[in-house]
Amino acid sequence: MDGEGLIIDGEAQLATAVAAFARAPRAGALFCDIDGTISPIVGRPGDAVVPPEVCDVLAGLVRRLGLVAFVTGRALADGRRMIALDGAAYVGTHGLEVLGADGSVLTEPQAERYVTQVQEVADAAARDLDCEALGVVLENKRTMLAIHYRLATDAAATRHELLQKVVEPARARGLAISTGHFLFEVRPPLPFTKGTATRKLLAAGDYLAAMFCGDDLTDAAGFDALHKWSEQDARRHACALAAVTGETPRPVLEDADVLVRATPGVLEALSRLLAAVGG
Ligand SMILES: [Mg+2]
Repeated sequence: MDGEGLIIDGEAQLATAVAAFARAPRAGALFCDIDGTISPIVGRPGDAVVPPEVCDVLAGLVRRLGLVAFVTGRALADGRRMIALDGAAYVGTHGLEVLGADGSVLTEPQAERYVTQVQEVADAAARDLDCEALGVVLENKRTMLAIHYRLATDAAATRHELLQKVVEPARARGLAISTGHFLFEVRPPLPFTKGTATRKLLAAGDYLAAMFCGDDLTDAAGFDALHKWSEQDARRHACALAAVTGETPRPVLEDADVLVRATPGVLEALSRLLAAVGG
């Protein structure tokens, strides 16, 4: 692949980031969202897969870099099912669950207090929504409930019904709501994000170069964590890479250093990174 058209903007920034990793691969940390970034978006989240050629490049990076972390909104076990690489770290449910590359579990115990409430919302949603007719897919992540409506024929009407029947009642009982591409998530009202998990993992090692690849609003918190981390020390280099489609939210476009076409542009960027670190 010659990569033509895959890097939309930020060729120079990508080259600078790749060079920073090449100088000291073991001091390099790569953070990677899964859905929409290394796995093309599909109607039903259960059908999504990471293409084998992407897995191969990431496996090479796990062997050469100081850290490769998969940072997903999915439950941690579900993220590992999608891309299972020994030696990688995993962040699940937007930062509530963290598994270090050495196997250490850094899961936030406070989230456990909200499991009953989240499950009551999940039960009510399953009972009150005609998911088939609405084009809704419920993804129960135990500490969180994701409500996908990408398959809805009338997205505005479905969104309205979801707000009325699930989102507002969940908010009224004190749970927090986050949104994404055709997605609501009911979650514990705790200040944990992909950004807090990224900070935790970065603080656990002596890294000099870091890259965060993502496509959605929750990834912008990871971009921000990386940028703040690099501002603390002039030797550090950070690169936020956005996997772009026609649906990419504005903050993701604005906060990224490099824009690539989702998802082959991510493979192109990661392949350049692997080649530069000796893969
Ligand atoms: Mg994503």
